[in-house]
Amino acid sequence: MARTKQANKTLGLESSEPALTPPPLPNEATTFTKKPKLASGPGRKKEIPEGLWTKCPKCSAMVFDKELDENLKVCTKCTHHFPIGARERINSLVETCSFEEMNANLESVDVLEFTGVASYKSKLEAYQKSTGLKDAVITGIGLIGTRRVALGVMDFGFLGGSMGSVVGEKLTRLIEAATHKSIPLIIISTSGGARMYEGMFSLMQMAKTCAALAYHAKARLPYISVLTHPTTAGVMASYASVGDLIVAEPGAMIGFAGPRVIKDTTQAELPPGFQTAEFLLDRGLIDTIVPRKDMKQRLGDYLDYLGAGRSAHAQ
Ligand SMILES: [Zn+2]
Repeated sequence: MARTKQANKTLGLESSEPALTPPPLPNEATTFTKKPKLASGPGRKKEIPEGLWTKCPKCSAMVFDKELDENLKVCTKCTHHFPIGARERINSLVETCSFEEMNANLESVDVLEFTGVASYKSKLEAYQKSTGLKDAVITGIGLIGTRRVALGVMDFGFLGGSMGSVVGEKLTRLIEAATHKSIPLIIISTSGGARMYEGMFSLMQMAKTCAALAYHAKARLPYISVLTHPTTAGVMASYASVGDLIVAEPGAMIGFAGPRVIKDTTQAELPPGFQTAEFLLDRGLIDTIVPRKDMKQRLGDYLDYLGAGRSAHAQ
């Protein structure tokens, strides 16, 4: 209650400011714009309750959380794309109530009994609790417009979107279901790479997912890979980079190794912004950049184009 009241107060002051101030004369314009804003003073900052506003890392504007949620986690001032959870993203893409999740209860097994600073088992439990997810990907079949599509969406919030046996297995089963049902496939990636807590079992997922994709391609079915911030390492080196169409979100960091590792290995100066979606579009690694708000419409258009001549419409 107190938080809502505070938000209204802040918003009210901002919106009433022009009405209280007489319109400036042309030669007074500079003085007027230089006037410090109420919300930017240091004393004022302390009054902003936590969790109600988010500071945009790109334009430094304070964005109202509710506004951010309504705008699919895209900054309303500069269109910076904030991370978005897998469930929220699925809701933004498929028709209401059309998504049927697959293998929702598949969970990782700590086959190596890995222990570092904390055990892998305890990490899994902690992330399952904090995200409400069983692992870093949600898969299922839903409708985009009138087209049935197999959809896999990764979540960076679960152990950095790392690809372990469960991510690999769920995606492989999704791809196989798409092949079996003769429907197109969309995978939306965000990942720090293979999950090293699972050692080589995680690396084997690269080959497994790509083998399944080869059968999907052999059946002449379209696969659209969507790269979101960040998509790196083992995921970028496998299923994320072999789409018939590779789409990225604006400003997404896409690459294999991090810039420091590449610089140390090649001993070369790296061009600015070389791992961004925009840089890679210029050089042909990706096909297009689509803002999050247009993603559903554009994916629908691409599916129509790629599936022209096929009967993939919902029965
Ligand atoms: Zn911004």
